[in-house]
Formats: sequence, C-alpha cells, structure tokens
Amino acid sequence: MPVSLLCVVKKMQNNDSNNVLVYRLGAGCDLADVEAGNIYQGKVQGFATFGMFVQLNDRIKGLVHKSNVKAEHKERDSVLVKVREVRPNGNIDLEEVQHQVYQVENVERKSTTVRIIDLPEKLGKTVAIEGEIAQIKQTSGPTIFTIIDETGTQNGAAFIEAGVRAYPEAELGNMVKLIGEVMMRNGQLQIEVDGLSILTDEEAEVVRVRIEKALDVRSEPENVPLLVPSEVMEKLRPEMKKVAKIIRKAVFTSQPIILRHHADADGICSAVAIEQAVVSLIRESGGDFDAEYFLFKRAPSKAPFYEIEDITRDLDFSLKDHVRFGQKMPLVILTDNGSTEEDEPSYKIASVYDIPFVVIDHHHPDTTIDKYLLAHVNPYHVGGDFGITAGMLGTEVARMINPKVESLISHLPAVAAVGDRSEAPERALYLALVRDNFPESACKDIALALDYEQFWLRFNDGREIVKDILNLTGNTERHKKLLALLIDGANTMIADQMSACMAHIEPRVLKNDARLFLLDVEIHAHKFTFPPPGKTSGEVHDRLCQQNVGKPVVTIGFGPDFAVLRSRGVLMNIPKMVRELRVEIPGGGISGGGHLVVGSIKFVEGMRSVVIEALIDKIANAQVQQ
Ligand code: MN
Repeated sequence: MPVSLLCVVKKMQNNDSNNVLVYRLGAGCDLADVEAGNIYQGKVQGFATFGMFVQLNDRIKGLVHKSNVKAEHKERDSVLVKVREVRPNGNIDLEEVQHQVYQVENVERKSTTVRIIDLPEKLGKTVAIEGEIAQIKQTSGPTIFTIIDETGTQNGAAFIEAGVRAYPEAELGNMVKLIGEVMMRNGQLQIEVDGLSILTDEEAEVVRVRIEKALDVRSEPENVPLLVPSEVMEKLRPEMKKVAKIIRKAVFTSQPIILRHHADADGICSAVAIEQAVVSLIRESGGDFDAEYFLFKRAPSKAPFYEIEDITRDLDFSLKDHVRFGQKMPLVILTDNGSTEEDEPSYKIASVYDIPFVVIDHHHPDTTIDKYLLAHVNPYHVGGDFGITAGMLGTEVARMINPKVESLISHLPAVAAVGDRSEAPERALYLALVRDNFPESACKDIALALDYEQFWLRFNDGREIVKDILNLTGNTERHKKLLALLIDGANTMIADQMSACMAHIEPRVLKNDARLFLLDVEIHAHKFTFPPPGKTSGEVHDRLCQQNVGKPVVTIGFGPDFAVLRSRGVLMNIPKMVRELRVEIPGGGISGGGHLVVGSIKFVEGMRSVVIEALIDKIANAQVQQ
C-alpha cells in the first residue's frame, strides 16, 4: 500500500565548525525518504565480488561499487555513504565518503504514536503504535503480528511474500514500534504494516513500564458486592480479587487461558461462570474475531484432580501452539480441583515450563501445593468448608472478572449448591436469589442433567450443549426440551441401576453406632454406563439415609481396586485416613482423597479386603454427630 511520506528532520547535534551533514534513516522510513546527493550513516551488510552492500536502516540497502570503496571493512562496520542515484527499479547506488567531523540529523517517518483504543478514529490514516508482540501468526499470505499496549490489542498484517515470515528478527515478547495504515478487513480493524522496528533496550524499558503500569490499573477488578451475604466469602474476597486480576491481565495480554475443572455439576458451574466472563472480556478487548476460541479452552478433568494425563495434553497442545502459531504459554485455571497433593505431580511438570496456575477449589487443601500457585481461593483457608462450593466461588470471581455477565450466571451457584449437596447457609441464599426463574427443583434437574451429559461428553467440554442445559443461550424453549429429555434419561438409568444393586447391600452396625453399608459395584451394578460407580454409590447412600433417619450412615461402594465413600453424621477426614492407611498397610498400593466426608480410595486388587477392613476400623473409631 503506497503511503505518502512526510519526513521530519530533527537536529541531533550542532557543530558550527563544519557543514557536513549526515542523515540517519529512522526505522519507519522507506525508499521515498532516500534522497540522491545526501550522505547517510550506514552499516556494512555483506560483500560481493563487485562491491559491498550497506544498510541505511533495517529495510533499505544499497550497493557501494568496489571502485567507490575507500577503506577495508568487515560486516556490521559503520560507514558513511553518499547516494549517487536511486534507480527506477529501487536499487540504490552508493559511494563511501570519509569525514572525521560532521553533524547528524535523524530522518523519521512522520507518524504520531497512537493508543490502540484510539485506532477506530484513524481509519485510512498511517499511524504508529508501540507495544509488545503478543502473538506472531504466519498465514499463507501475510504475517500477523498481535500487538498489545496499555489500552488494547491490535493485529498488524505484514506482507513480504505469500507465506513468508515478515520481519524475522521480531520475536514474541519484543517491544516494537509498528507503522502502517489503519484499514477495515472482514469487518475488523487491521493495520497494514509498512514498518516494524524493535525498540532499543532503553526505549523498550520506557514503553514496558508504561504498559505494565496501565495494565495493572486496567486489570484491577471492579468492587462488586457478593451476590449473597457470606462471612466466609467476604474473607476470601482479597484472594478472589487476586485471581480475577490475574485472569483479566491474561486476557488483556493475549495470553491463552486453559480452564480445567472437576467433571461434575459443581465443577461445570464454576468453570462455565468463569468461561462466560472471560469470553465476553476477550470479545470486548479486540484482537481476532475467533480469539475466544483459540485463546480460551475449557476442559473437564476425569479424575477428581488435575492428573498427569491432563497436564500432558495441555502442555502438548500449548507447546505446539507456541511453536506453530506464536502463542504465549497459557495461564491454567483449576476449579473444583487443584487444592490437594494429588495435583502436585502435574504442577511439577508444569513448573518446568513456568506455566502459571490459579486455583478455585473447596476440597480440603494441602499446604504443600501453594508454592506452585499464583493464587488459591479455598474456604478452608479462612475457616470455612466444602459447603461453599466451587460453583459459588467461581461465579463470584466471574463477576469480578466481568460484572456484565452477572444476570446470565447468577443461578449457577444454586445449581452447584444442590449438585454438591452443600449444607452451608449460603445454599439457601443463592437458591432464594433465583427462586422465580430457577426453583430448587429446577436447579436439581439441571445439576442431574449436567452430570448425565458430562458422562456422555467424556473428555469434551460440550461448550454449546452445556450452555443450553444451563439456559445461557436465551433459547428457553430448547433448554426445556433438552432438559426434560436428559432428566428422563438419567432417572431411567438411575432407577435401573438401583433396582439391580439395592438388593445386594450388606449392612453392619459399627461400635460408634454408625450404620455401615457395603456394595460391590463391580458385580452388583451395571458397568461402563450411567450412573458410574461414584454416582451409583451416592444414589444408594441417599436412599439408605432416608431409610435410617437420625442415624449416622456410611456407604462404601467398592470395585476390585477402589472404594467410594459417602457419609452422613460421621466426623471423618478421608484424605487423612488415606494417608494413614498408606503408611499402615505396606504393599497396599494406596492412594486417593477427596472431601473430608466424601471421597475415594484406590489400592491393589490383592489387598482389597485388608484395606477395606482397615478403613472400616477407622470409620468405627470416628466420632459421630449426636
Ligand atoms: Mn465441588
């Protein structure tokens, strides 16, 4: 795109004793700024049999014929050259000149640096922006540089040759000045790049400080009151704000975000709340029209923790995107997961690549993992417990990230509360908040539908389907149809499972008066279908609780090498029991955890009866609630 060039000449140095004038061509200047007869400061680029090539700036070079070379040089030597002729084909003939004393004047493209937020007013004009390269994407046509400054994100398209990387010296993270014309392309603002220069260390530092300062202010979340009064969450507010700020900053700097969550209703609600906030913020802050897809990914973790399989997949994709598409390494957010030492092996792998983590969880936290996290919201840190669900916390954090999504997501804490069987006072408050549109029965239906659909989705996030289940798309008709089908399907399958397994339950009365119920889900329940063993045990437990009103109840559903625990009225600490058993039963191959009173344990098949009997012994010694 030809641009009319206006040059300004700035006096750098004044020396009255001579009149030799040497020009230094600025980074944004091109051929039109080169004038025959003028002397320029240049740099030796290389040699040919017929002479040497001299660069006048990063983009413009000329040839000094060997007959016009005055001294011996090596590559990158600084030389003074006079322009003999600029030929119609763009070739520049130079001759070397030698002066000891001279005056230097800078030639700069006249382009005022504008802030990215002001670009819409500059349509059709040539402008300069200064900022950090946040992404470099090579297309089959131009190279797309994504630049961020203190006010926004902007793409610049630089074209050298189809599919050839423009400005190969410019790398991800460089601070640059980009000059070009502001255009509309596919309904989006784009800069057609005429010049891109890497700022000197000093210049870069100035811009970096300016951007960093402004981004810090811009990333600061708004002070929104909680949706419901909550002593525990009020105490968590500073940490929630910290998480919100880190996430906002990731969006403003085009850092990809991976959101991993527990694959149940609570986990999904917490993650979807944040998804809504992040996606809308990405849309608001400019950049690519499809940025909300390649800069944000949500994925469930099948295990109740961030397992090695998860980090391996996330790392694999991130590194490929980093190499192929010039993307930054991601920020990883874990919700309803991430607080326990079971997550540690994954954190260790991630730390090799300096991947930052934030965690929003309500599982009983292990202190050993905090060294891997930038921020960690967990009600146990402030005297609360798992009754404050991840869905409540995630929704409150989402509102801090982007308050505009509030009306869309305000029912998610209620769904999460019933899904996770919260008994905290906040449960009733969140339910009351949305009672008109989502009564408790509707919240229960949605929670069940989420669990059921996630079973079929397996490792997928089902982004759009889940929106329909949660009624986030505005198509209430479709939401109702889908929900009715899913509820019917889930209930039919649960009823099937219960009719098969309830007859095989073995009851015991423990010495602390707890009613213990054992179910072998391997041989007395349908396998590889809905409800899976954990949910099957939960459903069995619910029925047994109804049959044993007023009594402490513990249900253990076990398979060949695992057991799932559900309890009511028994003061247990499952993660602690698992840790103790690991020491007490050598060769048990024991691992596991979960919540204090709801969790799971794994072991080697040959040690099953030893492990389960030892576990029952611990339950029999636990205190019961009177
Ligand atoms: Mn949960």
